[in-house]
Amino acid sequence: MKCLATQHYTAEKEYEADFTSMSKVIPCGSQCLLEREFHIEYTHAKFQEIQMEFRGKMNCVVDKLFVEGHACRYDVVEEAIHNGKPEHKIYNVGFNRANMNINCSCLLFEFRGIVCCQSLLVFTQERVTKAPDKYILSRWSKICVGNTRTLEHYMVQKSKSRILNGMMDYVRGFMN
Ligand SMILES: [Zn+2]
Repeated sequence: MKCLATQHYTAEKEYEADFTSMSKVIPCGSQCLLEREFHIEYTHAKFQEIQMEFRGKMNCVVDKLFVEGHACRYDVVEEAIHNGKPEHKIYNVGFNRANMNINCSCLLFEFRGIVCCQSLLVFTQERVTKAPDKYILSRWSKICVGNTRTLEHYMVQKSKSRILNGMMDYVRGFMN
């Protein structure tokens, strides 16, 4: 029973977090149109993750740019303080001006689905004010298209929770 109760508790908390995301407003850290777009689209928790990348963009500068046709390659330097000493890391960001594909050597998007701070810097350099759809993942949308986590689904889950709670109270009655 304990395992069932734990699962039930976790699921309910998750639904509540999603539901809160639908109505909660957290401020954008900048006037950047791209940040606003993620702010509008993403759940509270996921927006906070990408907001860290927007903050991280401030530590990045473009070192070199190579252009060949539509293909650009940016060398981006990220500055950080490690053990009290300045540290520089260089990332290579490829951007195609024709199809808006972007990829960074840090592979953050490939591993976690989050657009990294180096790529965000390149978007800014390239005057990209609207993120290509492929970089806004629907699974983290406040209201997932094609997913069941809508307000209606939340309400159904909530009523199921009430039924489950009633059943557990009934069983506990026998156990006591
Ligand atoms: Zn990166």
